[in-house]
Amino acid sequence: MKMSNMLITTLREVPVEAEIDSHKLMLRAGLIKKMAAGVYNYMPLGLRVLKKVEDIVREEMNSAGAQEFLASAMIPAELWQESGRWDAYGAEMFRLKDRGERDFCLGPTHEEVFTDIARSMIKSYKQLPLNLYQIQTKYRDERRPRFGVMRSREFIMKDAYSFDKDQEGLDLSYDKMHDAYVKIFNRCGLDAKCVQADSGAIGGANSAEFMVKSEVGEDDVVFCTKCNYAANIEKAVAIPEKQEKEDLKEVHKVETPNARTIEEVANFFNADEKRFAKTMLFNADGKIVAVMVRGDREINEVKVTNEIGEVSNLDFASPEEVFNATGALIGFAGPIGIKVDMLLVDEEVANMYNFIAGANETGYHVENVNYGRDFEGIVGDFRNVTEGEKCPCCNGTITIARGTEVGHIFKLGTKYSKAMNANFIDENGKEKPFIMGCYGIGVTRTVASIIEQHHDENGIVWPLAVAPYHVSVIPVNVKDENQLEAANQLYEKLIGMGVEALIDDRNERAGVKFKDSELIGVPIRVTVGKKIGEGIVEFKLRDGEMREVQLEDVYDIIKDEFDKNNISLK
Ligand code: ATP
Ligand code: MG
Repeated sequence: MKMSNMLITTLREVPVEAEIDSHKLMLRAGLIKKMAAGVYNYMPLGLRVLKKVEDIVREEMNSAGAQEFLASAMIPAELWQESGRWDAYGAEMFRLKDRGERDFCLGPTHEEVFTDIARSMIKSYKQLPLNLYQIQTKYRDERRPRFGVMRSREFIMKDAYSFDKDQEGLDLSYDKMHDAYVKIFNRCGLDAKCVQADSGAIGGANSAEFMVKSEVGEDDVVFCTKCNYAANIEKAVAIPEKQEKEDLKEVHKVETPNARTIEEVANFFNADEKRFAKTMLFNADGKIVAVMVRGDREINEVKVTNEIGEVSNLDFASPEEVFNATGALIGFAGPIGIKVDMLLVDEEVANMYNFIAGANETGYHVENVNYGRDFEGIVGDFRNVTEGEKCPCCNGTITIARGTEVGHIFKLGTKYSKAMNANFIDENGKEKPFIMGCYGIGVTRTVASIIEQHHDENGIVWPLAVAPYHVSVIPVNVKDENQLEAANQLYEKLIGMGVEALIDDRNERAGVKFKDSELIGVPIRVTVGKKIGEGIVEFKLRDGEMREVQLEDVYDIIKDEFDKNNISLK
């Protein structure tokens, strides 16, 4: 590609709307252009990278035995009504009507569509297992689209759906996808870690996310500093802290005027927050649920939701609902005598002695509360793990880092096949629902994540495997015929070798061209300058030192770079 022909504008200034490096660089290097909030156009350079990532995904999916499909992005409402998600999906779904007033949506994901394809095409266990995938545009009206294509409203996802006849089959399909994902992210130059994830009502070790550690990540990921344990905070567990045994004392009501928050109450009693249990009230689809955790802990709403079961909306209870349940204003809820549909008690609270809690009376707390003697509820793990706690696997110390989810693998089981009556005939002639898995990769988010992990103050530093171009040939002075001629020959020869080369033949100062080539992140730069008379050019890797080499050696040096990166020239 000749830079003089390329439709690209690089920006020196940092665009104001961009908060994170990848977003800034994608705009500055001219990879994307914004159309509306969370809606982007891919410019030629951005598209080249996108296609490379897609190709890596495609190759690894194919070699894992999956078959590529392309479903329509426009999906009739009926399919979503069958699964029950037409209503449950809420405001994130883009909905539309056709001229006959028929409801459709723009697919935010495709479980229903692929379940429908399977039920109409797979009749017998002999056709199983099957893994179908597509690389396709998804639509989600995100509450907060941000960070460019990291969280956009239109994005490209690779989604795959596996169909098996039994659980063992699903386990195998899932493991294959896990292994394919490890290869995909490796080849993209991404350091992505597989972490346990919440699998909602399905539960168990049925879901994992591929997380890229990043300060700008939107998820909290719990890691053990000693062993391999890693889990999304939604799912992560730690060994509950035990309090030393005490003799049970008598419950005692204390007037605590103006002390509502745990901090105020702890100050009032002049005691550690660990001596308190806080009681928070929620409205779960109309059910009033109280949740108790130790004073210094945070409630984990995902764990709470899983305990309650199918909940579409978990909100804080209103002051009125709190008053009905406790007879008190907000800030004085406690377990004794509370009137709620469910009382969830974190296991740490159930193991505390003589703790302080709200008295269900405005302006009062109670001391010496004990689980079992004074109240009962559903005991479980309802808290967020915190930094420094003990790992559930090895007792090591837990640390928490921010992460971005680039992929997700999930054992669905029969959730969709049962709801949609998607069955096959097994070896014994019996009808059975498919055992399904689903597997997503955010392709556009992967591109942004690669940039997050590979950039410096001058721009993007693409790994060779996903770079929009491999080599940038820069004639220093295009008015010097020798330089331009030699640069052109070099460029043509590289293309002949299968190298994706750019030539910056613009009549610009060398400094401008160097800056653009660094911003765009081309991995290899060959500069043809005055010394071409002696047969010498400058060779520079994007993240390496510049050195002078003989023109005729350039080709082998470039080939070596491909070998080092395990990439074959086409
Ligand atoms: P998140 O928690 O980030 O919203 P999700 O759980 O909604 O993600 P999935 O439904 O599992 O995501 O989608 C599969 C993959 O699609 C994700 O792992 C992510 O990489 C990507 N993805 C999801 N939402 C977006 C988005 N709004 N913009 C870009 N990529 C996205
Ligand atoms: Mg989401």
